[in-house]
Amino acid sequence: FAPWDDPAAKPFIEFQNVTKRFGDFTAVDNLSLKIYEREFFALLGGSGCGKTTMMRMLAGFETPTEGRILLDGQDMAGVPPYRRPANMMFQSYALFPHMSVEANIAFGLKQDKMSKSAIAERVVEMLQLTKLEQFAKRKPHQLSGGQRQRVALARALAKKPKVLLLDEPLGALDRKLREETQFELMAIQEDLKTTFLIVTHDQEEAMTVADRIAVMDVGKIVQVASPSEIYETPSSKFVADFIGDVNLIEAKVLETSEGGSLLQAVGYDFKIDTVEQTDAAKGDIVWYAIRPEKIRIAHGESSKSEASEGGASAIGTNGTSGEVWDIAYLGDVSIFHSRIGGETTLRSTVANVTRLVERPITWEDQVALSWDRDAGVILTA
Ligand code: ATP
Repeated sequence: FAPWDDPAAKPFIEFQNVTKRFGDFTAVDNLSLKIYEREFFALLGGSGCGKTTMMRMLAGFETPTEGRILLDGQDMAGVPPYRRPANMMFQSYALFPHMSVEANIAFGLKQDKMSKSAIAERVVEMLQLTKLEQFAKRKPHQLSGGQRQRVALARALAKKPKVLLLDEPLGALDRKLREETQFELMAIQEDLKTTFLIVTHDQEEAMTVADRIAVMDVGKIVQVASPSEIYETPSSKFVADFIGDVNLIEAKVLETSEGGSLLQAVGYDFKIDTVEQTDAAKGDIVWYAIRPEKIRIAHGESSKSEASEGGASAIGTNGTSGEVWDIAYLGDVSIFHSRIGGETTLRSTVANVTRLVERPITWEDQVALSWDRDAGVILTA
């Protein structure tokens, strides 16, 4: 399932050069984006980057200052929210407190003048979908936060919208419940084959649920790609830093060709030999971005360490020595912070695959850090 790779595929939602200004403040800046039918798409970004504004324009609660929004091929200009084939689930859930769960779910259907029997049938269907059958008669205050969240979801899905807009839908839930609910959301989306657009500032959430993610920064989209592409090949320092943890090494380009590049770490005596090409010219300063789990850590000095497969082939290439000054034990993994000179540290994540009775590597140990040719990426911005 990757319609975005097919140039002939018709987008289901399209933002065409959309700008939104509030007075002289630009919240969304000339932004274009295509989302496909049945896609689970995430808008991810820090507070105030414009993601909620994007969603509100799509739902019809805000009007773009410039540009067009198409939904299912139709220009949405002038179409009121209730006539759009999209429904929004709000962060606050906005349930009617005096109504039972089933009445909350039925509310929109009644407004649409659906027949009583069809409403009853749809409500049962939604209660089953969201596993709320036993709570049908309860009022919102008699439910847990997670159950209220599911009522809001059932209500938003009751009209079977073609697009469900989710604005930080799981923000109020605790971590464990949030993770469970993410998988429920994915199962529901799979079941209904509806297009889901989620707004979140939580990168793990976006990576868990979404087919593709758009990373936003101050009113602009900085990268659109699948979770693994965004993590493995971030397009900029901002994205590399925003998604997960990353080591950023300043480096000078020594050579670059189709086969890869050779970089010199600025201020250090090691070189970086990478499969990555770069548009940067010889002598330019770039960033080599490498994830902590891609840096191996072992006892000893790097110059004495064995050249590993696809890794360091020459002394001082794709490796350096350091001293461990901090270890964060996180249960599944430990993160080692090694000083490689001055205040600069490299972080390596090591999976704790066996029980650590005694740590093989500990504080103040001299360690060799090394990585493979295809471990990191070159970033110029
Ligand atoms: P958060 O995660 O904090 O909700 P966001 O990315 O969803 O952030 P938006 O709500 O889209 O951000 O807001 C983007 C910017 O536009 C913010 O700086 C906000 O203050 C501003 N903004 C949003 N709505 C209005 C409005 N009605 N009037 C003036 N400024 C607004």
